[in-house]
Amino acid sequence: MKQGLKVRVVIPVYNEETGIPALFERLRGVTASNTDVSFEFILVDDHSSDATPELMKRACADAPEYTYLRLSSNCGSHVAILAGLEHARGDCAAFLAADLQDPPELIPRLIESWREGNHVIWAVRAEREGIHWIERVFAETYYWLLRRVGMVKMPPRGSDFALLDRKVIDALLASVGANPSLGGDIARLGFRETHIPYVKKARMHGKSKWTIERKLRAFADAFVSFSYVPLRFMSYLGMACSVLGFLYAAFIIIMRLAAAQPIAGWASIMMAVLVLGGVQMTMLGVLGEYLWRTLEAARRRPRYFIEDSLHLDQDCPPQRTEQQAGNVGVGAPAPTRREDREAVN
Ligand code: UDP
Ligand code: MG
Repeated sequence: MKQGLKVRVVIPVYNEETGIPALFERLRGVTASNTDVSFEFILVDDHSSDATPELMKRACADAPEYTYLRLSSNCGSHVAILAGLEHARGDCAAFLAADLQDPPELIPRLIESWREGNHVIWAVRAEREGIHWIERVFAETYYWLLRRVGMVKMPPRGSDFALLDRKVIDALLASVGANPSLGGDIARLGFRETHIPYVKKARMHGKSKWTIERKLRAFADAFVSFSYVPLRFMSYLGMACSVLGFLYAAFIIIMRLAAAQPIAGWASIMMAVLVLGGVQMTMLGVLGEYLWRTLEAARRRPRYFIEDSLHLDQDCPPQRTEQQAGNVGVGAPAPTRREDREAVN
């Protein structure tokens, strides 16, 4: 067995004050029962507004293996995880939620699978406790659409708990865009992957931060990031409408010539105007989604800023390439390579 394996665990945390003590207790349990692994935990506070920061800083204070990072604004869990990964050294790193719906005790099994040679080990939900059937249907439809239409080879029921090899982390950080959709961004990299099933427990503390609005945004992000299908669909729909319009025009002209009487038509005109207007607005909206993301990427703004930290490894600059240098966090040391400096400026 490989001794002294360095495993980093990134945990995004947002307003989880009620669950913090239980989280630390469970993490300590994992460390205590896996002494052959050197665990380090990177807790990324996604700008919580409750007592989470104080509780976490207190718990991390005397434990150098716990790093605390606080982002300067609420960026969403995917950006928070990327911030943690950017500061994670080690052979591999896992990420999971802070609410203990994903059991940290599963991490050793993910490590075993990594030792067997897998590079991306997804912890997949065999079952989800405590969710309404409507939510379950929506979630399954979402992942089905992503797989079938978006062509993202994510686990069929999705996953927000995984362990990544160092190679995958580097590839991810070098290629992820301004609006990350983490599962898809990892899946599209390739690499040898495997699935380990687990039961996603019901939340014991606090409530889910994934509001309907956030879910819709994540859906749009995922689709626009990975798929051209909406654009292609717009073109086909546009063509279909034009053909229908021409056919209708031909029909009216023929009727006018053949019957030699005016066509009473305000209703059909209204129908055509409304249908075509609606289709055009939808098309413009879809175009806007792509354009807006292109603009965001072109701006090369950092994805996050670090407001506060504890035990942050200052010798661990974020992984970067010239291309995405502008999208990394700026809580880390300034780039030393000339190309990086130019890209940031
Ligand atoms: N989270 C975060 N930023 C946010 C929303 C959530 O860091 O803006 C964290 C949250 O604290 C939790 C994880 O992301 O650790 C998953 O969030 P949640 O449990 O609300 O998602 P769900 O389990 O309902 O999908
Ligand atoms: Mg949760």
